[in-house]
Order: sequence, then structure tokens, then C-alpha cells
Amino acid sequence: MEPGHGVGYPRRELLHGDFMHRLKASLAAAATLTLVMTVGGEGRAAERLSTDVVPVLEEVHLRVDPDSSRYDGWVRVTLDVARPTRQVTLHAEGQKLAHVTLTQQGRAIPTTTERGDLGLLTLTADRALSHGSATLEIQFTNAYDTHAVGLYRMTKDGLGYLFTQFEANDARKAFPCWDQPSFKIPWRITLEVPERQQALSNNPIARTSSRSGWKTVEFEETRPLPSYLVALAVGPLEFVDVPGVKFPARIVTTKGQARLARLAATTVAPLVTALERYFDMPYPYRKLDLLALPEFWYGGMENAGAITFAEGLLLVDSTTASVEQRRRLNQVIAHELSHMWFGDLVTMAWWDDLWLNESFADWMGDKISDQVNPQFKVPLAEMQSIQNIMNRDAHPSTDAIRIRGATGNESMRSVGVAYNKGKAVLAMFEHWMGEDAFRRGINQYLRDHSWKNATHDDLWAALGAVSGKDVPAAMAGYIEQNGLPLVDVQPLPDGTLRLTQSRFLNDGVKADPRLWRIPVALRWSDGKSVHTQSVVLEKPTATVALEGGGRAVWVMPNVDGRGYYRWKVPPDMLLALAHQSTTAMSPAERIAFLGNLSALLDAGAVHGDAYLEILAEMSDDPEPLAAAAVISGLSKANESFVPDALGDPFAAYVRRVLQPMADRYGLERRAGEEESVALLRPRLLLSLGDLGRDPKTLALADRIAEQVMTDPSKADPALAGNALQLHAIHGDRGLFDRYRQAFESARTPVDRGRYLNALGAFDDAALQQEALRYVLQGPLRPNETFPIPRTIAARSDRGADLVLRWMMESYDRLKTRLPVEFLAGLPGYASGCDTTRIETARRFFAEPAHQVQGTMKDLEQVAEQVDDCAGLRGREGAAVATYLKSPASTGSRASRKSQ
Ligand SMILES: [Zn+2]
Repeated sequence: MEPGHGVGYPRRELLHGDFMHRLKASLAAAATLTLVMTVGGEGRAAERLSTDVVPVLEEVHLRVDPDSSRYDGWVRVTLDVARPTRQVTLHAEGQKLAHVTLTQQGRAIPTTTERGDLGLLTLTADRALSHGSATLEIQFTNAYDTHAVGLYRMTKDGLGYLFTQFEANDARKAFPCWDQPSFKIPWRITLEVPERQQALSNNPIARTSSRSGWKTVEFEETRPLPSYLVALAVGPLEFVDVPGVKFPARIVTTKGQARLARLAATTVAPLVTALERYFDMPYPYRKLDLLALPEFWYGGMENAGAITFAEGLLLVDSTTASVEQRRRLNQVIAHELSHMWFGDLVTMAWWDDLWLNESFADWMGDKISDQVNPQFKVPLAEMQSIQNIMNRDAHPSTDAIRIRGATGNESMRSVGVAYNKGKAVLAMFEHWMGEDAFRRGINQYLRDHSWKNATHDDLWAALGAVSGKDVPAAMAGYIEQNGLPLVDVQPLPDGTLRLTQSRFLNDGVKADPRLWRIPVALRWSDGKSVHTQSVVLEKPTATVALEGGGRAVWVMPNVDGRGYYRWKVPPDMLLALAHQSTTAMSPAERIAFLGNLSALLDAGAVHGDAYLEILAEMSDDPEPLAAAAVISGLSKANESFVPDALGDPFAAYVRRVLQPMADRYGLERRAGEEESVALLRPRLLLSLGDLGRDPKTLALADRIAEQVMTDPSKADPALAGNALQLHAIHGDRGLFDRYRQAFESARTPVDRGRYLNALGAFDDAALQQEALRYVLQGPLRPNETFPIPRTIAARSDRGADLVLRWMMESYDRLKTRLPVEFLAGLPGYASGCDTTRIETARRFFAEPAHQVQGTMKDLEQVAEQVDDCAGLRGREGAAVATYLKSPASTGSRASRKSQ
């Protein structure tokens, strides 16, 4: 699965610019919540179904009409009785059960039914079932879900549609089943639908027959699948064929949207080919549909052969798509396609290995996406995401990647850390083992466990067998424990280096110590030439003799930024690296350097004014994505040090920092430029206009925004969204109404997303109030709840206060609108640097009526972030304010780059 839009962003910026950047790092915690520790081992054990009687095949027959609110159907499950028993346990949540028939050897056995928590259904037979085969048949009726989980109904342009989203525990809401990943069985699915409707599922249609206005669509029996990967879709769907693959493949859209599917269609084949080559195995399923869903909480979901996506990600019109949207399209398709092998063909035995699915799919997806489309520079874009997750991992309440025994819901809530930390750790170990050995191990694991379940131990065993290395011991430190190491590198008088590891923590934070096995890659210069050297740091400290007996004038302790650790060198070496950043470090290292610098600021090892000076020094970077890391640094500085009152001096500083970048790359598209410039420019425009308050940039944004509204074909699609936001800042009610109208009449999901984000960008307090009212009263889909409040909160302290108040006043409305995991993320609205807001939130969420599972854990994480930010502002705020008000900050006494 790909995470979607929560209060904050679990990982990347998606459909809009980075107004929310201020909040992003902290809000990352919000949508990806974590384990509630009070749920003990017993509760978890009780969530597992008995294995005395297990399914071997399930037939599902549903009679569904997307233009009504209820459906009915039956399931027939072939059972294997492994141990004689009177009890059969399975899941059925919310359905009204009409007939339950348990049969063995042709004779019905009378049973009673009892319903428990989380959809548990217990059947008790009059007499014990004996060894061997049995059959269970259940007839039922049910209402469709309307919150985009389970089997849900939505309408668009007055037409009804049915879609499914089952991971983790929601197949049981659609029909009775054994809703756990270890019950991996073939499915025989049949849908009865009104004759005019299209229907699809995981496998191709085997037979269709019609009778009195209804058609019966029988799908081919599937290979073994867990229930969470079953998918259905019904409605007036449109199809676009995917060219270039050896199996039937289509993009599937709602009515009228097929015209936007061509780019997605041509994206698929090269990615499939690259994956088949890597895995040395053909695509495992009979067909492939990629469905674009208007109402969907996530980015994508890897249902076998029927992958679902948020339509804004998939339906990117080739004539108006920005490079960012095309990069994202590639990455999200590559991620979900990777799951067809990793997760679908081989499935975790239990939810506590969900992380492995996601870490692997994200790592693999990026690798393949980069192979096929190197112009998007995915590894550099992801280096920034890894910096963000490292910041989050510094907070003691962040969970480990793997939580032993975690339930489906717990794993779903904590899986956020698996994407970027998991991916970074896999990449680090791939390098340690060697790319070829790693690949052979992966492929052996996939061959050994095809169509079955496996655990991380199975994968470690396969990787260990090919590499001859002790993989579990090396992995455990990163997978089973939270937090990350700090490697302190100190040159000793005899020319050796002393490496010391400790747990990386922000200033003043206390937490248990940890020990890791860290593959450290050092680059160092003896003043004449540059050397690279690798060591594994296993003990708290180690002394390293430099190869060739040289003495280092500087050391860069994380080659390629590949190691999942923070590092520290003496201040003169740090400055030496910054001074020669573009010659001493690769682009990936410069991004990692700035992330590390920001962490050292949090840890109290670098001062705020020094941080701002180094940002200024590194801003004129010839690599657009490294320059973008400087902008991330400015956003961090803005969040940490700039209350509304300091906005003007900070703006002058921002203009100084960004001027060389603007000169180098330009604020408007240039003929013949590298594609990745278009990944930087929208952020440059936004930062210079918003944080820098630069009149020329704002005037340019006004012009582009007017173009977007009147003659969009002329506007640069990369800049459209951010120009609309900048144009809104000083906009009046007239403009607000134009945006609202444009949002409501948007003809593409991308346009709709742009105007939605921009509706939150108005500075006028009355318009902000109106925008917030619109969130709940306007024609917004439930999954469009977050962009407006996020944009308002990110604009100013005043906006953040307003949004927190709105959330508290609207809580009951939000409760009826949002799935529970998103409700649990609402404390994210108290994040930032203001302890008053977090106190307000504490009082509000202390009310039991304002809690769902996960709320308090989330609140704790947000509070840690706010405390750290407030602590940083307390330590460094005065010095930064003095710096910002001095001529030095605007470059009058600037120490410009000395290369
Ligand atoms: Zn995934």
C-alpha cells in the first residue's frame, strides 16, 4: 500500500507544493500512528483465528447494484478439519446472516452462532466435526460501506460505483471469510450486476450470462490469495489498454475519465519488464488492472491483478502533467507492481511482518523506477524523505519497524516508519552484502515461498545463505529496536580516527541506550587526494587507522548518504565540508549533509545562526535536488525560529539565500533545461514568494495564476499549483469565489487538487474561516478533508491556532466522516513550535469522547515534536533573531563561497 493524505503527510509531498512543509516533519507522525502499548499479548492472541478448521477454497457470490444502498449474497467455503472440534471461528462484520449451514459427509450439522469483537464469528456445532473435509455456507445481506473501506459505494456525477479496500481487517466487512494473511486460498468470485454495469475482480472473467436485466459475471478461480488482497469493482467503468505487456492489462477509470489514462497506460510496461528481469520470474497473475478511484484514502493498494490508486495520482494528463506528477506516477506504479511479487505472491504469515512488504516494495519500486526513468532522479528525491524519517526516529516514542505480534490495525498504524526507514535499511544492507548477492537471496526467497506465506526469518535465511553473512544479527538493531545511531568521528593525535556510537537524541531528551552493528563508510582527504574506507562499528567505540597511514584534513562519515545513522565531526571539519560542498560531496551526500546538519542543530551540536549561514553558503548548488534540500532547510528554520513577528527579517534572509538559486535556475521554464529543474522550481517559487515575500516573485505568480485560470494550456504545469497558492495570499473574496468555482467544475483530478489546496492559502482571516466551513459543508469528498486546514495551519501561527480550534469544534462532524486511523491523527493539528497549542490539545483529547485507538499515542508523539521545537527556539531563538536583524543575515558582510 502507499500511504495517502492524512492530517499531515506520511512521507512525500503529493499533489501540491510545500506550504505544509513547516508542519511536514512533525505531522509525519500524525497519519502513521503507532502501537497502543496497553494492548497486551493476550488481546493479540485472541485476534488470531483457530487453525483447527481452516478454509481451502472460498466461493463468493454477491448480487450488487451500485445504485442501491444494500446487497445480498452467499459464501461457500470448503473446509479442512485438522482437529476434531465443535467450534469453527471466522470473521463476518456487520452482515445480517440469513442461513448458516455446516455440512460434513453430505449431512447438515445444526450450529449456533455467536458474534464477538472485531467481527469474530464463532459457530458451535451440535456434535464434533471429524477429520477431513467439510463445507460452510452462509447467506447474508448487508449495507455498503460509505467511508471508502470494505466494500464501499460512492457516487460521481450522479452515478453509483462499488470499490473495495480490505487491508488490513476490512474484507470481513464485505463478506464472511478467514480474514488473516496466513489463510491464503483460491477464491471463486461471482458477481450479479445490472446488465449495463461493468464488473471486475482479481482474475479475468470466465463466463457471463444474462437474465431479466441482470448479468452474472463469473471470474476465473484465483491462485491462493489472502482475503486482504481480494478486490471488486462495479460501475459504468471505462478502460484503456496497456500496451507492451504479455498479459491482458488495462487502466480502469470512472465514466468520462479514460481520456486522462494514456500516460499511466504507457508507464506500466517498462516497469513490469524491469521487475520481471530483476526477479527473474514473469508477472505472476493472469491479468492486470490499474484502477483510478475518486474516493480512496491511500495512494495505492496492491490487490493482486487489480491494483487500486487514488485517481489524482494515476490520472495525470500527459499534456498538462508536471514533472513532479510524472515522477510520482512512476514511483507509485512501481511500488504497487513490486508488491505483486513481494506481498502478493509471497505473503507475510502475520501482520507483524507487514513492514517487510512495505519496506521492500518501496525500496524495489524506487530502484526500478530509477532504472526505467533516471531523469526523475528518484534516489535524490528519496534522500530527502530519509532525512525526514530519521528526524522522526529521533523521538523516543517512535516505534521500531517491526513490533513482534502486532495486530493488523496496530501494524497499519505504525507501518509509516517502514517505508522510509525500512527502505534505507534495506539499501544499506544491499550495499553491505553486495547488489548481486542481495538479489540472488531475494529471488531464492521468492521461489521458495511462491503462493505461500513467509516471515522475515525466511528472508534473512535466504540472504544469509547467499552472502555467508550473519544477516539477522546485523538487521536486528535496525528492525527490532527504535531510534537511530550517532557516529561521532574524532581524529586522534596519532592520525587515527576514534569512532564512537551512541543513540542519537535531540537536546535534553532522555531515552534508553542502544547498540547497533553499523556499516560505516568514510570518505576522507589528506589534503592531496580523497580516500574511501569501510568499517563495521559493532562496539560502542573503535579506533580506525586510515589506510595508507595518512592523516585526514576532513572526513565525510557517510558515503553516498547510504548509512542509516547521524554523524558528527569536529566543527572545523564540518565547515570545511560546507565550504567545498560541491567538490567534496556528491549530490546525495549534500542532501544528507544538510539533513544531518539540521539534526545536529536539534541535538544542540550546531548553533542556529551557524545553521543559517551554512544554508546560505550551500544554496548555489548545481544539482537542482540538492538545492531543494536548502529550501527544506529554510522551511525547518522557519518553523523553528520564526514566529509571525519575525517574518520580515526572515524574508530578507530568505531572499539572500535564494537569489543565487533563482539566478542559476530561473523562475520560469527555460528551453533545453534538465527535467529535474522542474522538481525544484515550484518550491523555489513558493519559498521566494511566501517565506521571502519577494514582490517580483509574487507578481510572477499572479501572472501565472491568471494564466492557469484563463488559458491553462499556456501555463507551466509545474508552477500552476504553487502559483495559485501565492496568488491567493493577498487575494480577496472575489478570487476565493473564483477558486471555489474552479474547484467544483474541475475537469481533471489534478486541477481539482490544485484549487483545493489553494483555497486554504488566503491570508484574510474571514476567508480562512470560510474555507474551513467549506471543508465540511461544501461538496468535498471525505478524503478531501485535509488539504485546506493543512494549508491554513502551515501559513502562520494565527492560522495554526484557527485550525486547531476548528478541529475541536468540528470533532463530532469529523468523527462521522473519517476512518478511525485518520481520526487518531487529529492531534497533529497541535504540532509546530507552540506549547500553548499542545496544552489545548491535551485538555481536549483527555475527554474519552475525543479518543479513538491511537489518539493518545499520536498526541504523545506530537508533544515530543513540539517540546523539541520549543526547546530549540528557547536555546537558539534569541541568537537567530539577532542574526536575522543584523546586516550579516542579508549578506552585507557575507562570507561567500570559497571554492
Ligand atoms: Zn505498499
